[in-house]
Amino acid sequence: MREQTRPPYYHESMDWDRLTAEYEPPFEFMTGARLWSPERIAEEQLRRLRGAVERAASVPFYRRLWAEHGFSPADITSLDDLRRMPSYTIDDIRDSIERQPPLGDYQGVGFADAAHTPLRIYTSGGTTGTPRPTIYTQWDREVGAILSARTFYMQGIRPGDAVINAWAYSTHNAAWIMDHALWHWLGAIPITTSTGNVTPTEKQIEFAQLYGAASITATSDYLLHIADTARRMGLDPRTDFDFKTILSFGDTAAVEEAFGVPTYDSYAFHEVQYLAAECEAKDGLHIFEDAFIIEIVDFETGEALPPGHKGNIVVTALYKTGTSQLRYNIQDISASYELSQCSCGSWHKKLDYFQGRSDTMVKLRGVNVWPEACGKIVAGHPGVTGEYYCYAERVAPEGKVARDEMTIMVEKADGTGDSAVLRAELAALLKQKTGVAIGVELVERDGLRELTGHGHRAKLKRFEDRREAGR
Ligand SMILES: [Zn+2]
Repeated sequence: MREQTRPPYYHESMDWDRLTAEYEPPFEFMTGARLWSPERIAEEQLRRLRGAVERAASVPFYRRLWAEHGFSPADITSLDDLRRMPSYTIDDIRDSIERQPPLGDYQGVGFADAAHTPLRIYTSGGTTGTPRPTIYTQWDREVGAILSARTFYMQGIRPGDAVINAWAYSTHNAAWIMDHALWHWLGAIPITTSTGNVTPTEKQIEFAQLYGAASITATSDYLLHIADTARRMGLDPRTDFDFKTILSFGDTAAVEEAFGVPTYDSYAFHEVQYLAAECEAKDGLHIFEDAFIIEIVDFETGEALPPGHKGNIVVTALYKTGTSQLRYNIQDISASYELSQCSCGSWHKKLDYFQGRSDTMVKLRGVNVWPEACGKIVAGHPGVTGEYYCYAERVAPEGKVARDEMTIMVEKADGTGDSAVLRAELAALLKQKTGVAIGVELVERDGLRELTGHGHRAKLKRFEDRREAGR
């Protein structure tokens, strides 16, 4: 007979009372941690930060990074001291994986730990290059699920609601954590369709109608595609569904317009799960400050920026026990808000809406320009469909120094008049808002579908760097 080993059964491998006391589930959160004073938030953050730093201090990746920058865990005596800790980016993670494949040396646990605590692994980047793994302990997983559940609860999901989960079920975390949150912490009924590649969009629409789905969660790009498909099927997205709220990421105004129901934004990424969520006030995203410290730093110097200034998001996750993130510069662009009490009653700091990725940022004559910002500027013009695609190239006019240029391709709306006039108007608008000249190319409606992957990619491609090719 084979050796017998008792597995670490999920229901008995963790102290659930400690979990829900430290990280309140949605119902308790609404009258609990959500209403903490700024002083209470700071107090809890410092306590949790000390614990997180202590845990990371035994991880080779952090030991090396901190030693290189002369940082010691003992340096943390106040929240301000966090700035003394070096930040890192995806390049450091890639380097760590190269040093010690396949998991890197940034993990706080290994597969052998699954003998006493349930673990799971998700990866990002796996489709295009070396996968970057994040290992979730049961604790990290449940805290992440609670934060996701808080987001959905704040945005209107209640027990008994059927929710279509149209995120991609893959090696990536997104769809799974939402499913976990809906099922384990909300009493909602997830209908796991995944994207249009798994369940055709027409079928998803049938499911939503058949079961009277109260909500759907997907990227705004995909939600707009669903609305489009519904119209092509002869349905009215505003009246032929039972949605009461829509849970999205990105351009929620367009989705709200298409479906005629409140649509909420949030901010999450796969290594840390839900980090900030829009409340009913719809004015910025509340950071879950009992679980995170968020800084906005200058693109080049890494120095902290005051509220209102666009920079990179630097994330410190306070709850992690498996794969830690301490001052991780995720290179997403946003800005912080001035601290004030929201009309919803919460003091949790707010983060501005996602503005784009700084790794696709192009410097044109000293001005930082990025595709998502250009897309937002042209989308406001009535002569276009809102679809766009940007590319950067290095242009070397005869006898002149080579310089970088950005061009935005834009789909014309039906019945648009003179193209030359439209192009001039868009170019003027871009120049006015960004302060620098950006090329404009017009294409017919649906002319960008091939480039962006509209209809089959959950997250559309919006940028192509052609500069390398021109060198
Ligand atoms: Zn609020």
